[in-house]
Amino acid sequence: MKANILIVEDEEALSLLLRYNLESEGYAVETVARGDEADLLLKEQSPDLVILDWMLPGLSGIELCRRLRARAETKRLPIIMLTARGEESERVRGLATGADDYIVKPFSVPELSARVRALLRRALPERIADVLSFGDLEVDREKRRVSRAGQAIDLGPTEYRLLEFLMERPGRVFSREQLLNGVWGSQIYIDERTVDVHVGRLRKALNRGHHTDPIRTVRGAGYALDDRFGKTG
Ligand code: CA
Repeated sequence: MKANILIVEDEEALSLLLRYNLESEGYAVETVARGDEADLLLKEQSPDLVILDWMLPGLSGIELCRRLRARAETKRLPIIMLTARGEESERVRGLATGADDYIVKPFSVPELSARVRALLRRALPERIADVLSFGDLEVDREKRRVSRAGQAIDLGPTEYRLLEFLMERPGRVFSREQLLNGVWGSQIYIDERTVDVHVGRLRKALNRGHHTDPIRTVRGAGYALDDRFGKTG
């Protein structure tokens, strides 16, 4: 499982240490030293997990966490908060702000990576499954086959990746820019309207002969797999 992790930490030595260790465990890691930079970056990118320091220049980790929880796209983003021992009494406030887990400095790297693994397993069980299911939709990743209600569906390669990306993260809302980065890759320049075109094609292929649409258009935000569809479809 190759998950993307964003580290937001202004202590350079710690940031490097975490990056080195998490990369050696197979994660793709990005680091930022300022809270306000992380805030901007998270409007464009959608990592699978964020390791967020409490005290940061620009914007505190607490405030950033609060903002992330208030936005549809990052409401469910897994967050592990880091704090110094003296700040431990603020623990309750940290969790109330919406962090999923909390770790007190100094901590050992194996301890943090165990927490990262546990949170990813809890938050993103879909990332490690060979077969993804959502409502009556199924994606068999080994065979690269898609079906709805048992009927095979032919998808182009881009629509397939788009569906796979959404099904790995059911219910999460993605902006067009995040979908571009996640599905097409951040190195390529493509107009955001391209996303709408491919979502349109994907919808058409999935919904032929069906009355319910698994994809939700979130006004002003982007797209998501519809939670209600997952439960009833
Ligand atoms: Ca700090």
